[in-house]
Amino acid sequence: MTGSQLYEAMKNISPAAVVQPYTTQTCERLVPLINRINELKKEKNAVVLAHYYVSPEIVAGVADYVGDSYKLALDARQVEADTIVFAAVRFMGETAKILNPTKTVLVPGHDSGCSLAEAIDAQTVRKLRVQYPEHTFVCYINTTAGVKADCDVCVTSSNVYDIIERLPSDKIFFLPDLLMGQNIIREMTRRGIHKSIELYDGNCYVHKEYDGALIDAVRMSHQIVGEDVTVIAHPECRPEVVAKSDFTGSTSQMTAFLESSPVRNVMLLTECGLNAGMQARFPERRFIGSCNMCRYMKSNTLSSILQALENPAPAMHVDIEEAVRSGAERCISAMFRYAAKR
Ligand code: SF4
Repeated sequence: MTGSQLYEAMKNISPAAVVQPYTTQTCERLVPLINRINELKKEKNAVVLAHYYVSPEIVAGVADYVGDSYKLALDARQVEADTIVFAAVRFMGETAKILNPTKTVLVPGHDSGCSLAEAIDAQTVRKLRVQYPEHTFVCYINTTAGVKADCDVCVTSSNVYDIIERLPSDKIFFLPDLLMGQNIIREMTRRGIHKSIELYDGNCYVHKEYDGALIDAVRMSHQIVGEDVTVIAHPECRPEVVAKSDFTGSTSQMTAFLESSPVRNVMLLTECGLNAGMQARFPERRFIGSCNMCRYMKSNTLSSILQALENPAPAMHVDIEEAVRSGAERCISAMFRYAAKR
């Protein structure tokens, strides 16, 4: 890759959506690192899986697979390489390891947590199961392997509503995302599905920040000049945000919506990485308003990926005790099974 090829791919990304704006000079500086990582991937038989929320130079320069947590979980099942470098957060690296126990899985971010995954541990789930013995325990994929091992089925933002609807049980305990749980209750009511749903009190610190007043202000300022804004939100946002949005979905579903709808003014209420990616793909559209950055996702850098391939720090390795791994695999397999049902 050359600096001008990288600049061509990045030039339409607004400075507000990235840690560092892309100029021809920054692209020239990034390219030697990108090319070195791509050489090492071949030498070490490694692949890079990258979430949409990481910095665009990772997505454009070194990623072999890009997606949201559900797509990357599916991709992780297909990988043939010996080593998976998961440029995202630790629970996603754990999902790859759960599905590929014999492969080396490395998470390069130096701060690869997640406010949702850290909201609940396995011990708390076990206590809740004693308290709610008749409930089916459904965990969001943003949980540790230990939490998954103690739950019945896991879901992602791509399949959460369909899986909750398809589960035979009418008593559900959903954890740990309170706001997504409130959106599930709203969506089940809209679908005419009657289930009793208990919730836990975790949240994504990035998506929680958006509120309905922001949407009202942006719509009003555009109405004055006779323009519409299409608002697209992630289901980790507050129910009032989802209610005021034109479309709600996972990052893959948001991308598919933008691919199929030629909307001009777009307000994407999710992590900045998706805004950056969409600006690069649809330069003729206007992406309006603020986006929030996830410090955990942004702790992945080209330098940390290079280190993971050259000489990974012990903390970059993902290792899971076999009893926990097999329990978590059962929970994830249940997701694939329910997601495939029609
Ligand atoms: S954006 Fe939110 S849910 Fe995603 S990794 Fe960051 S804190 Fe976790």
